[in-house]
Amino acid sequence: MNSEKGLLIVFTGHGKGKTTAALGMAMRAAGHGMRVLVLQFIKGSWAYGELLSCGKMEEIEIKPLGTGFTWKKESLDEDRRLAEAGWKEAVSEMKRGYYDIIVLDELNVVLSHGLLPAEEVLETLKNLTRCPHIVITGRNAPDELIALADMVTEMKEIKHPFHRGQKAMKGIEF
Ligand code: ATP
Ligand code: MG
Repeated sequence: MNSEKGLLIVFTGHGKGKTTAALGMAMRAAGHGMRVLVLQFIKGSWAYGELLSCGKMEEIEIKPLGTGFTWKKESLDEDRRLAEAGWKEAVSEMKRGYYDIIVLDELNVVLSHGLLPAEEVLETLKNLTRCPHIVITGRNAPDELIALADMVTEMKEIKHPFHRGQKAMKGIEF
């Protein structure tokens, strides 16, 4: 990792392409021999194609931190605990200086569901002096994160086959 503060990049919005944009960047960086860590908040170790392909690539380490689509459950205690443990790991990796890029996939969702205290997360991101490029994905990015970030893209949904009853498809959604 170089000794500067990396970019803070956000992919948000309701259209498809946030996680895959971050994974595309990870793949691009891996081609240069850069080291990438992808921490997947919310997601469990369901058979996402990216888990399988990143398993074949030395440069990209990917870790699911959650249990699946969590906020439908009655109790959020377990999800809160997982989110906190995941954030702790993210902070320690951001400070460690080993990775060139760290993707915090679906962190926006964790923040917008109140599973982590947004002010504390924002304060920590603001106070990092040296860190890798950080890519945060998920719908409903908090305004304060958008203000802090160097690069923000909003995926805007124009059409999605979900609306005509199409279920999630292999290679497209997972
Ligand atoms: P991807 O992982 O494909 O890049 P994403 O990260 O932008 O998508 P998420 O908000 O994380 O999308 O949603 C996960 C999956 O849900 C996506 O693969 C996406 O295709 C699907 N999805 C997106 N929009 C809708 C929608 N309006 N209704 C239902 N499912 C949707
Ligand atoms: Mg996503």
